[in-house]
Amino acid sequence: MDLLNTLVDKGLRRELPTREEALAVLATSDDELLDVVAAAGKVRRQWFGRRVKLNYLVNLKSGLCPEDCSYCSQRLGSKAEILKYTWLKPDDASKAAAAGLAGGAKRVCLVASGRGPTDKDVDRVSETIAAIKEQNEGVEVCACLGLLSDGQAERLRAAGADAYNHNLNTSEATYGDICTTHDFSDRVSTVQQAQAAGMSACSGLIAGMGESDADLVDVVFALRELDPDSVPVNFLIPFEGTPLAKEWNLTPQRALRILAMVRFVCPDIEVRLAGGREVHLRSLQPLALHLVNSIFLGDYLTSEGQAGKDDLAMIADAGFEVEGTDTTTLPEHRRPCGGTAAAAPEEDAEAPAATVPAPSDEARRDLVSVRRRGAGTDLPPNA
Ligand code: SF4
Repeated sequence: MDLLNTLVDKGLRRELPTREEALAVLATSDDELLDVVAAAGKVRRQWFGRRVKLNYLVNLKSGLCPEDCSYCSQRLGSKAEILKYTWLKPDDASKAAAAGLAGGAKRVCLVASGRGPTDKDVDRVSETIAAIKEQNEGVEVCACLGLLSDGQAERLRAAGADAYNHNLNTSEATYGDICTTHDFSDRVSTVQQAQAAGMSACSGLIAGMGESDADLVDVVFALRELDPDSVPVNFLIPFEGTPLAKEWNLTPQRALRILAMVRFVCPDIEVRLAGGREVHLRSLQPLALHLVNSIFLGDYLTSEGQAGKDDLAMIADAGFEVEGTDTTTLPEHRRPCGGTAAAAPEEDAEAPAATVPAPSDEARRDLVSVRRRGAGTDLPPNA
């Protein structure tokens, strides 16, 4: 297939595909799926070998958010029966983190619900980062606390945060459909503040919210322009009790095509398979390892993932290896002070007409399970 040969050549040279090429990946048929995975797999192996970086989520503060992001079980007015608790104490957060690190994770992601942190919240998180770093040498810590105010990124960096996560989630054109309490530019600005403070930027998307192919390509190109070091790709978990509970738009095949498209647009960036992989990829999860070089181990913020030991077995069975703390995730040219910058984005071609989302997948509500263990409970975490 000419398209795939072109995309592999570009990916190996760190050259961006055009919007038409990215759209064409999403439009490939199920008959072509393994060819698409194999092609994107070549690009993945060029920059990341067969390594899989494991990340571990610790939900520091769960639920009761004043924002109205419609995909989120922690949103204002959510009826989802999730765990709700206020800030974990630094020692408790450190214990939860230690379980993930013992399971093979090299990055801990400290997440708190809310529009953004107060300065007091930044103090609490700084204490938590100190506790985790003191007890776990070499650990990478990422903070995800919402929109940042002036000076907060610098304070988090000074406290030892290696990275900051804030997702763009969807295209600028459709952002107002999923959230009314903040906008796309607020999110872009927080990612840029994190970068300016010297933190590694992590910013990604959520697929399956009813967006078109053009929206997906738009958000991935917007991310590429921001040039984060890692891009988490979430697949919507349609929680009962949230406005998007009926959005079952993904098939395992479509989820793989989306991951392949992200890999071609972000050839040398850490692409992370994030929430919703068990629900939407199901038995095809191992194929996704040919596309992404990073996953979350164990549970998510408010839902349970597959058992951590099953994540490790899946990686080994598929012929991949867990990335150790002695290995740097990003290729040399993307490390601070290393080599040349990645190729600049090409001029946007004229936007194609919006396409209709793929036909609805069967709703697999049986695969959505609210988290009832780990942080905020008396039960041991899944790692
Ligand atoms: S700001 Fe964060 S926690 Fe709050 S509703 Fe939006 S995604 Fe959920």
